[in-house]
Amino acid sequence: MDYKKYIKIVENWPKEGIQFKDITPLMDNGKAFKSAVDEIVEFAKEKEIDIIVGPEARGFIIGCPVSYALEIGFAPVRKEGKLPREVIKVDYGLEYGSNRLTIHKDAIKPGQRVLITDDLLATGGTIEATIKLVEELGGIVAGCAFLIELTYLDGREKLDGYDVLTLMQY
Ligand code: IMP
Repeated sequence: MDYKKYIKIVENWPKEGIQFKDITPLMDNGKAFKSAVDEIVEFAKEKEIDIIVGPEARGFIIGCPVSYALEIGFAPVRKEGKLPREVIKVDYGLEYGSNRLTIHKDAIKPGQRVLITDDLLATGGTIEATIKLVEELGGIVAGCAFLIELTYLDGREKLDGYDVLTLMQY
């Protein structure tokens, strides 16, 4: 399917010079959204995934329907202060400043095969941090799946050695 016709490009948002890829028109179209999720479900089946992990907030949108389809769990990765029980943390650099992500300490059992999902791979910082959390808990990152890859930001370089699926490239 030509998913790109459902992506709206918003110039200079949220900041001057950024071309934001808005996935909400794709989510709005039931057939396109289902088709995209189905492709990720097939990828997850090939990789024999035990559990899906996604960073907030759009990682939930992509990951939860995949976990539902496969009848496997979904573990959220969230900003600090959002998860109610014991967490492990990771810090990663942003263009300006830094960000901290957390996951519940018991979210993943050692040896579980994990698929990480998000809407978009840009510099790869978010996914690299998510991988660190999963691996610290003993999970095996068997794959990473995104709707969109911004190839000019070279996020894949941070994912060297991991199996990466992206449905659209810009
Ligand atoms: P990275 O950490 O630089 O790879 O940025 C990826 C994260 O930023 C993802 O969680 C995305 O949701 C978000 N993101 C960055 N650019 C865009 C965009 O153009 N559209 C939607 N999300 C974006």
